[in-house]
Amino acid sequence: MQYLPLFVKLTDKPVLIVGGGSVALRKAGTLLSAGAKLHVVSPEFAPEFIAWQHEGKAELINGYFKPTMLDGKLLVIAATDNDAVNAAVYDAATARNMLVNTVDDQPKCGFIFPSIIDRSPIIMAISSFGTAPVLARRLREKLEVLLPHHLGPLAQLVGRFRDQVKAKISGFAARRQFWEKVFDSDVVRDVQANQLPQAEQRLLQLLDEPQQQAGEVYVVGAGPGDPELLTLKALQLMQQADVVVYDYLVSPQIMELVRRDAERICVGKKAGDHSVPQQDTNQLLVDLALAGKKVCRLKGGDPFIFGRGGEEIQALIPHNIAFQVVPGVTAAAGCAAYAGIPLTHRDHAQSVQFITGHCRPDGTEPDWYSMSKANQTLVIYMGLMKAAHIQQQLIDAGRSGNTPVAIIENGTRREQRIITGTLQQLAELVSQHQINSPALLVIGEVVSLQHDLHWFGQRPQVPVFGQTLTRME
Ligand code: SAH
Repeated sequence: MQYLPLFVKLTDKPVLIVGGGSVALRKAGTLLSAGAKLHVVSPEFAPEFIAWQHEGKAELINGYFKPTMLDGKLLVIAATDNDAVNAAVYDAATARNMLVNTVDDQPKCGFIFPSIIDRSPIIMAISSFGTAPVLARRLREKLEVLLPHHLGPLAQLVGRFRDQVKAKISGFAARRQFWEKVFDSDVVRDVQANQLPQAEQRLLQLLDEPQQQAGEVYVVGAGPGDPELLTLKALQLMQQADVVVYDYLVSPQIMELVRRDAERICVGKKAGDHSVPQQDTNQLLVDLALAGKKVCRLKGGDPFIFGRGGEEIQALIPHNIAFQVVPGVTAAAGCAAYAGIPLTHRDHAQSVQFITGHCRPDGTEPDWYSMSKANQTLVIYMGLMKAAHIQQQLIDAGRSGNTPVAIIENGTRREQRIITGTLQQLAELVSQHQINSPALLVIGEVVSLQHDLHWFGQRPQVPVFGQTLTRME
């Protein structure tokens, strides 16, 4: 982080502006809206400055900048059209360890003015720190549209009831749950309709109700890795939870989106790893929920596809713990889409099967014969370690050794790798390319459709539509 965003209380605080023209005017307006006391030095002033002086909002000093003018000021803005003057202001302020902003000269800025979205008392500040102002502006425009104007009155209402709620409900987590309930209630609609007395009454009713302390478990699919594949519901519950219990498949970029002060517990699991046994994870969810926590059980892909989500819910039921299940984009769907492999296709595959390469402990084998017929797609989860076995069984059962295969490592993530070849090369490809988990095996005629992508020559790493593809000839 190049700059730390801080929100500074400027009410009645002295700020020096060097410059009296239009550039200085813009900054002065922003500073005045935050209640700063302006001292402006310049040989001439725009008329607005004169008016502000009459209103007692600004003190104008007719003349030139001197370092002694910095005495007692909190901030200083160099806003002249003369680079030498601006540099002198910057040097003098920096020598005194003061925060200085030089307009339109980012290297000479100890602080900067962000783009502001004002829904007071909710304020949002956006900046690209001078690197991409147009991008920052577009982002601001998008947020302006997204953020309803009743946010301000809503936050004011909350502010008025804070002390009362604090007196009635003890404990930070319980208070947070109360406010979540308020924001999900018709209080918001009343504020939106400008029915403030009704909103207040409704809020008081909610406060009078017994505060439910019961915990809850949200079993949430986080998708294969790209955070943009999260559902809105997943994001909302990740933001509501007191605790997030996650495993290794949940990408770090997705964990970034979890509520900042939520507790995070990793129950990571990789094939062959001795991590938290499933029994213990089930028990953990039960214990946290019984302690009154809102628990987000965040799982890679979809919780009900090779995700043991069903077992975790079965463990909650005897304890009468409330739960919700939020589907996620399963690895097969995400990886295939990002790799350009349609899992079914009228000419190449009339069905698709999702299979685990991780056999049951009793060693029961899947029905290799049914999977060996042509024109069907097999997507094998957790198949890396068993690649040689899968290859052998399918060929022995009659599937052609020339069936196209793809191995997708870290699908949908920035590090995504796609290796293609044929079924008879499968195990060799896995070891030759040192494929690591998570990786998915896709076997079937549809893999040949990747040729339709614009893909030339034999370069090992070719970006196609933003993905990195690796090809074996
Ligand atoms: N519930 C998950 C699957 C969990 S099983 C889902 O619906 O996707 C774990 C296996 O999923 C991994 O061994 C790997 O085969 C596959 N997998 C999950 N995420 C993946 C990714 N980003 N890229 C490739 N394979 C992935």
